[in-house]
Amino acid sequence: MLHVTNLQKTYDTGDEALRGVTTSVEGSETVAMIGPSGAGKSTFIRCVNRLTEPSGGEIDLDGTELTALDDDDLRAARRDIGMIFQEYNLIERLTVMENVLSGRLGYVSAWQAFRRSFPPADIERAYGILEQVGLDEMADKRVDELSGGQRQRVGIARAVIQEPKILLVDEPTSSLDPETSDTVMRLLTDIAADRSIPVLINIHEVNLALEHADRIVGLHDGELVFEGTPDDLDEAA
Ligand code: ADP
Ligand code: ADP
Repeated sequence: MLHVTNLQKTYDTGDEALRGVTTSVEGSETVAMIGPSGAGKSTFIRCVNRLTEPSGGEIDLDGTELTALDDDDLRAARRDIGMIFQEYNLIERLTVMENVLSGRLGYVSAWQAFRRSFPPADIERAYGILEQVGLDEMADKRVDELSGGQRQRVGIARAVIQEPKILLVDEPTSSLDPETSDTVMRLLTDIAADRSIPVLINIHEVNLALEHADRIVGLHDGELVFEGTPDDLDEAA
């Protein structure tokens, strides 16, 4: 479970990207963070995985206060955070299976997966996850042969094999057509429910959030302006 309290981020440029945001994401639920470009959505995710240093506030992930960690502890904590990126961040010349297995190493050192051998239990687990994302028959294909939707599913599988305590997903559908976007969103909500992993998705397409999320958090100008179910948002609009 992720609890964020009064999160603030002011960049060196003076941009106040987050002005005290408090929210949480709990087991098995999919939360969509919506808001126009510049609202602070990716700053929020970058603060949670500490790619950006927050200016204030607390970030509690299953009892660990992430803002207080030294570098070693931060590296360990990041293994508990599964990241899924807009541009996939896969290793093009490696196969689907190798990319997924690289998740076992933590995303920071993913490139080390090349030529490394993995225990059979990891490979078995990887097949199981590839089956869930519908790519088990493509395990030996290089990712540069895949479509955008297939790549995004490899990215999801790579994050899931980490067995993270949360999945953070930054604009997963912005390079995908509507039908593929739908499939990817459904997959993420299924993973949250089946594996009891809370999922936080930054998404600017409100209709996808309405259709797929359990809960919606709305940001505007670095402030939380809405928090509720898709039905609540429909009524507010
Ligand atoms: P969103 O993801 O909702 O589009 P961002 O978190 O990217 O919003 O941006 C929020 C605000 O912070 C914007 O005003 C943006 O220009 C600013 N911002 C984002 N990243 C940086 C950065 N690295 N340095 C300075 N300002 C930034
Ligand atoms: P997104 O909204 O998808 O996060 P952005 O265009 O806001 O995309 O950001 C792309 C990159 O540019 C990010 O790495 C962000 O940190 C950086 N960035 C965004 N706004 C600013 C800014 N005002 N000054 C410096 N860097 C920025």
